[in-house]
Amino acid sequence: MATTYLDHQATTPCDPAVVAAMAPYWSERFANPSSRSHRCGLEAAAAVDLARSSLAQQLGVAPEQVVFTSGATEANNLAIKGLVEARRQRGRHLLTLATEHRAVLEPLRYLAGHGYELTVLPVQRDGLVDLNRFSEALRDDTLLVSVMAANNEIGVLQALASIGALCRERGIALHSDGAQIFGNRPLRPCELGLDLFSLSGHKIYGPKGIGALVLAEGIVVAPQQHGGGQEGGLRGGTLPVPLIVGLQRAAELASQDWQARQQRLGGLRDRLLAGLLELGGVRVNGSLEHRLGHNLNVQVDGVDGTQLHRALRRQLAVSGGSACSSGSPSHVLAALGLTPAEAAASIRFGLGRPTTAAEIDQAVLVVAEALKQLRG
Ligand SMILES: *Cc1c(COP(=O)(O)O)cnc(C)c1O
Repeated sequence: MATTYLDHQATTPCDPAVVAAMAPYWSERFANPSSRSHRCGLEAAAAVDLARSSLAQQLGVAPEQVVFTSGATEANNLAIKGLVEARRQRGRHLLTLATEHRAVLEPLRYLAGHGYELTVLPVQRDGLVDLNRFSEALRDDTLLVSVMAANNEIGVLQALASIGALCRERGIALHSDGAQIFGNRPLRPCELGLDLFSLSGHKIYGPKGIGALVLAEGIVVAPQQHGGGQEGGLRGGTLPVPLIVGLQRAAELASQDWQARQQRLGGLRDRLLAGLLELGGVRVNGSLEHRLGHNLNVQVDGVDGTQLHRALRRQLAVSGGSACSSGSPSHVLAALGLTPAEAAASIRFGLGRPTTAAEIDQAVLVVAEALKQLRG
């Protein structure tokens, strides 16, 4: 039997329309967009310009505010290290949440090892940060705050507009890792008070290896990759034209179907949850209300996590924690107050554009079978 893929928070399949849009740029229109001395190069540059302005328009910014990177990880690194380097005279304090992706936590910890002071705020049992606690943690010497829009493990949506307002009041720069929200909400980062916003192609049915950092007007970051002056000197390296075209196409498709998709997948998610709750001893990790429609993360009582995932993995592609940190217990679930054993016995379901009701019913059956076996 084929494996049912329910791990769309780890990555998504590249949409055939995206593959088609990229196709001419591999072998036919292959020129380097920095080659301004011939027509082939100028055509490649025009394709990049078009993709950039279309993406920028969707995000409500000017084209020069979009910096292409290799993905959200690089965008986070450029945002965090780049802003801190550009503004280091302003202070030494950095603030983030315990549930952030490691692509945010690690650059911040790197800076903490180089003379900066890092506060990692806990979250509540539902995954949301307490706004009073957040506000109290802001200091006069706070240089940068980084809070993700939507969590990759539990899908929980932070109150980013309120967080943005608090930061703006104090004149503190705010970065957000938007890898999970982008394509699932019509997000205009600057209207939310965000100064820096990271996004990724492969989470929105686009290609892997491409993403972008969106900078609010007037926000300056120091380049973290020096080279041939591409991307306004902010990110050296030959531009991957096919990937950029693919990212734009994927973003365009997502902007067209996000609402219907979130609604449909939200319905399937509820059907999945109802089926799992009937099995008994199943609890939702994180707020169900403040959550992306296509995510479910549950904790299963009375089974060993390793045995549970071993029983599931032949028929179900799901995740126990974050794909990048598999092996060690999820720091996100730990931040919600779960013990290592409870975190290990948790399942993340990430529904996606191709997910069908039949697959959801199949997933419930597979879990039911595993529990029957393991609970004896
Ligand atoms: C996937 C993901 C990343 C990493 O993105 P890449 O484009 O693979 O570097 C970072 N943050 C979050 C929240 C993610 O979901």
